[in-house]
Amino acid sequence: MADSIGFLVEYLPRIGTTSVVLDGIKEPSLKYSDLGKITVQDGRGERLDITLPYNPGKLKSKRLVRVSNSNKDEYLLILKSEEVRMDKSHNDVLLMPQMKWNKRQLNGLKNFRLCCLKCDGDIIDRGNCSRLNEMPSEFWMELMDYWHCHKPQDKTSEFYSLQKNSLSPCVKEILIGDSFFQAVEETFDGRTAVLDGNLAMCSNCKKILGRRTSDRMLRIPKWKLRLKSDDCQEDVFPAEFEVISILLNCNRANSTRYILLRSDDIQLYIWLFAMGIEVTLANGRTLHNCFKIFYSDVIPSNIGFKANVDEEQVDKVPLDKFIDALETTNSILPSSKQRFGTWKISYFPAAVE
Ligand SMILES: [Zn+2]
Ligand SMILES: [Zn+2]
Repeated sequence: MADSIGFLVEYLPRIGTTSVVLDGIKEPSLKYSDLGKITVQDGRGERLDITLPYNPGKLKSKRLVRVSNSNKDEYLLILKSEEVRMDKSHNDVLLMPQMKWNKRQLNGLKNFRLCCLKCDGDIIDRGNCSRLNEMPSEFWMELMDYWHCHKPQDKTSEFYSLQKNSLSPCVKEILIGDSFFQAVEETFDGRTAVLDGNLAMCSNCKKILGRRTSDRMLRIPKWKLRLKSDDCQEDVFPAEFEVISILLNCNRANSTRYILLRSDDIQLYIWLFAMGIEVTLANGRTLHNCFKIFYSDVIPSNIGFKANVDEEQVDKVPLDKFIDALETTNSILPSSKQRFGTWKISYFPAAVE
């Protein structure tokens, strides 16, 4: 049956190569159209149509080989594009697409409100937000050298005081990070209440929304809120993307690719193996601009003492959802592509589509 054929398509933009792993298929023949589709035909006459995640255009070469040393029937198809189209944003972590609910998007909406996910009470709206600003990266200082050479106009920030090395937004000024909003406490007066442990709850329904930062501001994760406006449908922010923004920040800050994520009772080692990859999974889903992520809940064998492992504390909900997403994708990979030593392999997009 055609649905017993497993596959994985990986497009590596940097080298213009598409690789297709075919699993559980006998003596395949294939047809490639310039439209970015391939049709694989099995010796038994079964057909499988695969949409490539990215149209490789005219091909320089294509090669289909049987993978040796595998007891299952596995084939590898390699397509080489004539042209390598460099899309910078796929290769450079500093040019990755911005997460949604950024300054540009919110300013473009008519009368936006950010509401408590539980009770719909307004947490940020016209009444307490007269100005939006992008949060300088948590690791702004480390990026200074980079910016000095590249001078991206839109990233300069007039409120960031280099002397004090701290943020000082005005009341009713909301700072926007990849995955959170932050403002001085007065900005949220009447909308949130701060508890003993520096946690901030919704004044209306008492749900915990965020926490106080070390410089006495309140930080509220985007996934705890719902976005409403007069001209667009309601929107929520998937909690698992908070983890992606943490991984991106670690990588931006010190170019580490090994990160240990911890929440109350779980820990997860992450190896950011590659980024900017386009993938089609066996369920037909395409994922754009992905990280290829190796993950493990035990100390993986190849992390020696020399490896620079960054440790990050994460909330339980985003981490649980992130792990679920990794596991779901891992479970539909061809079996030879599910593991690398003690690591499990998965893919995750760098931004919410
Ligand atoms: Zn509420
Ligand atoms: Zn893409």
